[in-house]
This record gives sequence, C-alpha cells and structure tokens, in this order.
Amino acid sequence: MSEPALYFSKSNDKFICDLCPHSCVLTDSAESFCRVRGLISGKPSLLSYGMISSIAVDPIEKKPLYHFYPGSKVFSIGSYGCNLRCPYCQNWQISQNFNNSSIVSPGKLVDMALESGAPSIAYTYSEPLVWYEYIYDCAQLAKEAGLNNILVTNGYIHQKPFEKLLPHIDALNIDLKSFNKNTYKSILKSELEVVLENIKMAVNYAHVELTTLVVTGMNDDMSEMQDACRWIASLDKNMVWHVSRYFPSFQYNKISTDVSFIEELYVFAHSILAHVYTGNMHTGNGMQNSYCASCGKVLIDRNGYSVRLVSLKNGRCDACGHPFEAVLEV
Ligand code: SF4
Repeated sequence: MSEPALYFSKSNDKFICDLCPHSCVLTDSAESFCRVRGLISGKPSLLSYGMISSIAVDPIEKKPLYHFYPGSKVFSIGSYGCNLRCPYCQNWQISQNFNNSSIVSPGKLVDMALESGAPSIAYTYSEPLVWYEYIYDCAQLAKEAGLNNILVTNGYIHQKPFEKLLPHIDALNIDLKSFNKNTYKSILKSELEVVLENIKMAVNYAHVELTTLVVTGMNDDMSEMQDACRWIASLDKNMVWHVSRYFPSFQYNKISTDVSFIEELYVFAHSILAHVYTGNMHTGNGMQNSYCASCGKVLIDRNGYSVRLVSLKNGRCDACGHPFEAVLEV
C-alpha cells in the first residue's frame, strides 16, 4: 500500500526525497536508502503506508520512557525500513523484514489501541520517521481519540518535516548513538549534528528522553560518553538519559558491553544529571530507580518491569516537596 510523499523536490527531471538528509533520488524500485520510498505511477510515495510488521502492548518502560506515565502500558507498532545502518541493530528482525506485514489503516490502528486500553500509541521497533506520512495521519486521529503519541526514533530527519509532526507528539525517546561525528558518518551513515539539533527542537514540543546503547568497540569510550553527558546537561540537567548495554546482534559480533563500564558511566552521569538509568542489564541495583533531584529519596522503585511509585505526592517528593520532573497521573 502506498501514499503520496509529503516532502520531495525535483532536480534535473529527478525526484529527490526531502524527508531526511540522505536526499535519495526516488526511482520505480525501492532503491532509496531506507527502502520504503520510491515512485508509484511517477509520483514520489511512501511504499509501506500502513504496512505493520509488529504489534504489541508493552510496558512503557520498555521503550524506554521512565518519566512519562510510569507503570502504564503502550500500544506499540513497528514497520520496516530504516535510514541508518547500525551494524549491531538490536531490532533487525523487524527493521529489515520486508516480507512479513499486514495493512492497518490509521483509523483501524486507533481503534485497536483504544480496545487495548493503553493510553498511548508508540511508533517504535524500527525507525518510524521513514513512515512519516502514516505516522502523521495516525497521530492526528490518535490525539482526537484522546491517546498520547510516542516516537522512539533515531532523530535523523530534516527539521521542516520534524517541526510539522512534533505538535502531534507527546513524548519521544531519541537515540544519541554516539558523540563522535566520525562514528555517525562512517558507521551509522548519518550526521551527529542533525540529531543534536533535532533533540534541541523536540524538547520545545514534547517530553524527551535520550538513550545511548553503549556498543563495544564503537562508543565504549569514557571521555566520549562524558562529553555526551555534559552536552545533555548543558541542555537540561533534568533530561532523562538511558545508558544501555549492547549484545551481539545482526552483523556485529563483538562481546557484550562491559557491565563495569556502564556502572562507572552511571556514577559519572548521575553526578551531573538528575535522572540516569541503566538498561539491558541486571536490575535491583538501584540504577533503574528514580531519585528526588533535591534530597535523593527513592521516588519510583523499579525491578525489571515492576514499577512502584513509592514517595510521590501530587507529583512531588513526599519528603522534601521537590517537584519530580515527569508526566504523571496525579
Ligand atoms: S527518508 Fe528514506 S528516501 Fe527519504 S532521504 Fe531519507 S533515506 Fe532517502
């Protein structure tokens, strides 16, 4: 199923996709970098409109979002295609599976989400921004139905389309995959600066949390991670940062991230950011809990996907009254 593309231009009789900085020339076959955009009857189109390859009702902590309705469920969908090339992709079975999908119209999607009882829809698993037109249509209908929209994204898109979509989005988890321009360019096939600028834009519209998968041999460099942390703090010391452990996957076989590296990074980051969490590693060590930024009391106790709001009263720490920087049902 296809839908006319919203962002393109014409140069020397060729159609160029203007959705992300790859600026692909669109052709009759899906040869674009993300493999979901091309020409249908000569018109620039999204080729995968409504083609859903994965649906689940997940804990919101799985996105991960720890400060947006903690403990709630989220109706989550994924399609295929991506505009980055992470050799260690942890969701490659979804992002690269071009054969296993069913068509779900935006109206049907919203009905399914409402039936699930979850208060939010997450566009996730692979890269949602390459299915832009579908998300744009779904997000508007979802808002009308009283649902929240969540994007779990690499943040690699031109600012114009991003700015048009953001007013319909309530929360984002954006990957900050590295803090090294060369890594973004040579390994991930994208640009760090674009992602940083989009993070800066997104915080003006929605709740934003960041995730960095610490990958052995790519970004497990303490000085690079500390620079990333300082940049986040320069934006907002209350910005949530998830630092997660990588496991060998897809085309990348280096050993899993050293747990002690993640723990050391957590200690550093927690000294300058109020809310840091470790992911994909053992729980129960307190590194998934939320702490009061003022007095340090545990506000949310997490063990796996078990979430207990323990010391919150009307969105504030019940010990010192400091506000907890989160979107909560109060
Ligand atoms: S969205 Fe896809 S087709 Fe468009 S420029 Fe980016 S990678 Fe190319």
